[in-house]
Amino acid sequence: MVMTVMAKKVSLDKIRNIGIIAHIDAGKTTTTERILFFTGKIYKIGEVDEGTATMDWMIQEQERGITITAASTTCLWRDHQINIIDTPGHVDFTVEVERSLKVLDGAIVIFCGVGGVEPQSETVWRQADKYHVPRIAYVNKMDRVGADFFATIEQMHKRLGAHAAAVTLPVFDKNGDFFGIIDLISEKLIVYSEVDGVLISNTPIPEEYLKQAKDYQEKLIESLVDLDEDLFNAVAHGEKIDGLKIKQVIRKNVLANKFVPVFCGSSIKNKGPQLLLEGICDYLPSPLDMPAIKGINPNTGEFEERIPQEKAPLCALCFKVMTDPYVGRLNYIRVYSGRLSSGNSVYNSSKRISEKVTKLVYMHANKQHIVDEISCGEIAAAVGLKETMTGDTLCDKHSPIILEEIKFPEPVLMMSIEPKTKIDQERLGYSLKKLEEEDPSFKVTYNQETGQTIIAGMGQLHLSILIDRMLREFNVEAKVGIPQVAYKETITKKVHSTGKFIQQTGGRGQYGHVVIEMHPLEKGMGIKFENRLKGGSIPREFIPAVKEGIMDASKSGILASYPVTDILVNLVDGSYHEVDSSELAFKMAASIAFNEGLKKGNCILLEPIMDIEIVVPEEYMGTVIGDFNARRGKVVSLGQRGNVKYIRGNIPLAETFEYATTLRSLTQGRASYIMEPSFYQEVPKDIYNKVISGQR
Ligand code: GDP
Repeated sequence: MVMTVMAKKVSLDKIRNIGIIAHIDAGKTTTTERILFFTGKIYKIGEVDEGTATMDWMIQEQERGITITAASTTCLWRDHQINIIDTPGHVDFTVEVERSLKVLDGAIVIFCGVGGVEPQSETVWRQADKYHVPRIAYVNKMDRVGADFFATIEQMHKRLGAHAAAVTLPVFDKNGDFFGIIDLISEKLIVYSEVDGVLISNTPIPEEYLKQAKDYQEKLIESLVDLDEDLFNAVAHGEKIDGLKIKQVIRKNVLANKFVPVFCGSSIKNKGPQLLLEGICDYLPSPLDMPAIKGINPNTGEFEERIPQEKAPLCALCFKVMTDPYVGRLNYIRVYSGRLSSGNSVYNSSKRISEKVTKLVYMHANKQHIVDEISCGEIAAAVGLKETMTGDTLCDKHSPIILEEIKFPEPVLMMSIEPKTKIDQERLGYSLKKLEEEDPSFKVTYNQETGQTIIAGMGQLHLSILIDRMLREFNVEAKVGIPQVAYKETITKKVHSTGKFIQQTGGRGQYGHVVIEMHPLEKGMGIKFENRLKGGSIPREFIPAVKEGIMDASKSGILASYPVTDILVNLVDGSYHEVDSSELAFKMAASIAFNEGLKKGNCILLEPIMDIEIVVPEEYMGTVIGDFNARRGKVVSLGQRGNVKYIRGNIPLAETFEYATTLRSLTQGRASYIMEPSFYQEVPKDIYNKVISGQR
């Protein structure tokens, strides 16, 4: 582990917090590598194919060739500090994508010049839309036969509804080999060395490419004129539009999420990421361009805002926790306002505790630069925080604020896990705890009845990667059961229920008595608790215990011990005893009341439903839809993409086991699909009976 001290700090307007998001295999890792190389941070280009890429430092990422964890890395270009949050490409990890998008100010979306806009590109694009992330696009792999820059831009218009236009053009030699890039704004032909990306020439556009360049420059200006009145007037009056003006208009409209400039390149041939770096500095927002962040003052319950100013009180978000083999627990933090210094204690408003930051570091994959302080707009990792978890707000104790939490989808797939030996047993608990801390979409529970430990996650790949990590990083050998659907239970009507835990047989007894109302909530809301007591029928200090009792009881329902969800629990009444009441007694009473409520509440079983897109050649369409319907799938829309059809719809997760194999045999391997968890829905009666009797 190399540690250095970072001397110079850049001003806020020169900071770029960006993510690189892409369809898997589009070249995100390779492009990130080149960016790090060209910014002088690494001295040997790590090839993904050789499994040495710097960002992909986790072993199984190297083996699978995919990037899983959102590690953040810092580099410098021109006089800008670029913080890159590495985002995963696989849909099983949408949680990671969403959580990174939340702390980013802007993004590069990479497309493969051959594959164009693929289904997963659409998924990540929509996620970026949801979080209003300004973005620039990069069409990679221009060196490959069949790469089509313009067709990809066309697809961006059609499939993504993006207002996008080229700012650079790929140039090919007589043999059709990609050799240079025309910058439509500086009106230059730029050639980089294939060996190390060094600039070879930067010359006025040669005659033979001039017409094409002019055409595309006009297209670019036309698409900007629609967005900018000044530019419209200037063009209407026949004024010459200079590069600076074009850049200003592009920047303004990228920030407003109205325009996407498109770059081209071949990262593997070291041509393109250099101009992309210029694009990051020129067009993507600095933290100053971002609106004030909103949160809730826990003392008043009122909304408050924090503007990106160093002098403002500290407000920061922990967006990732990782265990580093050298320094231990690392909390990745984005500061929104004020400053955070090492050696000082910081207030965690989500947990209402103070903790000490012992060290602050800018991360560069597995190298680190120590800094004394980070200020608003910056991203760094903190060492020393023991209790702070992903989603927690860190702030000034005297100006407390809690930022809106990152919402994590509930895990939909679960497996039992059993240690192989006695030694493994000890390590298992520790490793699962560490992995759970790092990944909020991974849940570990213990089934009292069967004595089994159950792990739950977002899909098969997600769980298999975590099991892999357990083996490699924590040395735990474990047997895992077959994947099972994570069903849930809920009530369907409002109920009123009472719980008493009273033991008064000499000496100090126990006394807890609560009355609650339970209301069915919309799907996806989880368990909510509200204290609606009027007067002091239960002293304040016991209320947290009541909540705890309810949360505990909700871990296991009455139909088949699945977790209970989507219920609002209002505490409406109760009583206490001066001497005998205790936290434990109220906790027990609340659990009893909750279970009583479930019994009266006409419980139903819920199952996870997945959004799915199947891409299939036309001739297999009928067969695939027939099978899809038989699996309780519902088609939402059908469409054509190039020469293949696609089916979009949803399907219960329970019906998708081995679906990949079935689809392969139905279509001679020519169809593919992607899916992600969407919502929970009541299980039909016939299936319910099978689930309850353990037949599925
Ligand atoms: P990621 O999954 O998006 O991170 O993509 P990778 O960077 O791992 O790249 C996927 C594959 O595409 C690897 O085999 C790369 O070597 C290859 N690749 C990446 N960039 C280029 C490129 O510009 N041209 C060509 N021909 N291949 C590339």
